[in-house]
Amino acid sequence: MKRLLTLAFCMMLVLSPLAARTDIAGFCYHQVEPKASGKFSLSLDKFTEQLEYLHQRKYKSLNSEELLAALASGSAPTENSVVITFDDGYRTVYDYAFPVMKKYGFKGIVCVYPSFIGSKLAMSWQQLSELINAGWSVECHSMGHKNLAEHYENAEFEKKFLNHEIVAARDIIEKQLGNKVKFMVWPYGVYTDRTMQLVRDSGFAGAMTVDGGASYQGLSPYLVKRQVIYSSDDMNKFLIRFGMRALPASQQYPAPGQVVTQLATFSCRLDELADYSPEKYVLNAKTTGKKVTFSFDPQTRMLTATVGSEFKPGNYFIDIYLRDKNTGITAQNGWLFTIAGKSNKTGY
Ligand SMILES: [Zn+2]
Repeated sequence: MKRLLTLAFCMMLVLSPLAARTDIAGFCYHQVEPKASGKFSLSLDKFTEQLEYLHQRKYKSLNSEELLAALASGSAPTENSVVITFDDGYRTVYDYAFPVMKKYGFKGIVCVYPSFIGSKLAMSWQQLSELINAGWSVECHSMGHKNLAEHYENAEFEKKFLNHEIVAARDIIEKQLGNKVKFMVWPYGVYTDRTMQLVRDSGFAGAMTVDGGASYQGLSPYLVKRQVIYSSDDMNKFLIRFGMRALPASQQYPAPGQVVTQLATFSCRLDELADYSPEKYVLNAKTTGKKVTFSFDPQTRMLTATVGSEFKPGNYFIDIYLRDKNTGITAQNGWLFTIAGKSNKTGY
């Protein structure tokens, strides 16, 4: 009984709209400009409106160190925390985003790739240093912004390629800025079992994805979740992304980053879904571009899905959604897998 109550309590924490959120929404921005200039550029007005919303609700932004502490199992749960990241290292982040972030007392995490830094559109190392002095973190987004699943076919070449894109890039950032890089931030959100292994082996404390859902205590720091914010997002869309709750899962098949030759079924255990009933929840399972049928066993909490047709080589997301019919609140857990082959392409 006590166990049941604990589980019911966990579920409440995940989905209750009234309780303070203990999961951690992550945002992935790129450019912030007076006028948006492309899919990944956000107008300064929209950006300010989003920060204003978070500020009014007393959200606190975490830098890398605070994020790692918040994810660790057994640490005190953080309330109303978000992670605000900026990928690539655009100059517009320094010129436009930084002053607004400062105004609201937010700290960001900038994810840079050295071959871009110092170029016309990018920040300089000096500007990145200023961000660090203001409490921000600067993390590694590879050397040249390549899809790191690209050379999976050739082990020898891949090893050199990954060392350059991950380890050498990290070393340059640390040398230029004198900081300790903690996270690898995957270009295009693409990671494989091998890139994850290298990142662990070479001393990174974690990695950031664009996998769906929010991060939660006990989630591997190598699977930090972020929602990409697009220039076309209106406030409503932002609130949907921000409102997406964590849906803790384990025993995933394929595992996050796993490379397989083909995939007919996928599965995972929804650890905190103790009170499932179709009257209470709408459960859904999806994978990029495929028809999926699935079933859920409330006893074992295992979700098992069958995919309707064959995959072409490439990177694919699996996404599990749980909507509480009463509150309308939705939780999500997404992860990436790769079908081995010559052309690994992704949408990010
Ligand atoms: Zn990028």
